[in-house]
Amino acid sequence: MDGVLTIFHTASDFGQKETTTVVLPIGAIEQHGSHLPVGTDTIVAVELAQRIAERLDAYLLPPLAVTSSIEHRLGRGTVYLKPATLAAVLTDTVASLHESGYSRVLLVNFHGGNWIVKPTVRQLNRDYADMEIVLLDLATLANARLGEVIDNPAGDVHAGEMETSIMLYLDESRVGTVRPTDRKTGLSQSFLDYFDMTELTGDGYWGYPEAATKEKGEKLMELLIECAFDYLALLEEQKRIVRSNG
Ligand SMILES: [Zn+2]
Repeated sequence: MDGVLTIFHTASDFGQKETTTVVLPIGAIEQHGSHLPVGTDTIVAVELAQRIAERLDAYLLPPLAVTSSIEHRLGRGTVYLKPATLAAVLTDTVASLHESGYSRVLLVNFHGGNWIVKPTVRQLNRDYADMEIVLLDLATLANARLGEVIDNPAGDVHAGEMETSIMLYLDESRVGTVRPTDRKTGLSQSFLDYFDMTELTGDGYWGYPEAATKEKGEKLMELLIECAFDYLALLEEQKRIVRSNG
């Protein structure tokens, strides 16, 4: 059978093609200014997860789209879960995959507001010693290298140069005109603990979407994938070191 296993396959397809790795994209549904779709994080997470699943010949799940986006609640189109609900959904999903005999789950996250995923993964790896649950938080993993592609890596937080470039590359028909704003906040993202995104920004975006290009988007996708596999290789290497020490 060609291609990765997905929800379009039958139980007998799953029986014929042994795979122990599952890839779960995690996005968001939240306002992305006037120029990008509310599903941007989900669209990008799915594309990244697809590429990763293909390289690993893994089972590619549909995305967790409604996630943790309370900081965008004032923007129309936003739908969100409470962080504890997202943690519970992930915990139940991993428990179910464990029962089905999967040993490795890769969570491909493309939304910074899903911070609850990190402590959840730390807990799950202790709760399921015979499994490996890996968080591929791609914007974070690539953060130190974003300057190789984009002009404004610092302060490009939401619907900015990175996300707009990637959307131009994936489907430019979905990218609208950027509304100029002089409200370029120099604040840290921790201020989202107190304010909503649309209160801190002029048009719901935080960063430099006007600097986005399709070419940057293509390079960013390659960079994010490279960072994902670098991280997985580092993890394998560290497992080998820890085992040999112990
Ligand atoms: Zn986004």
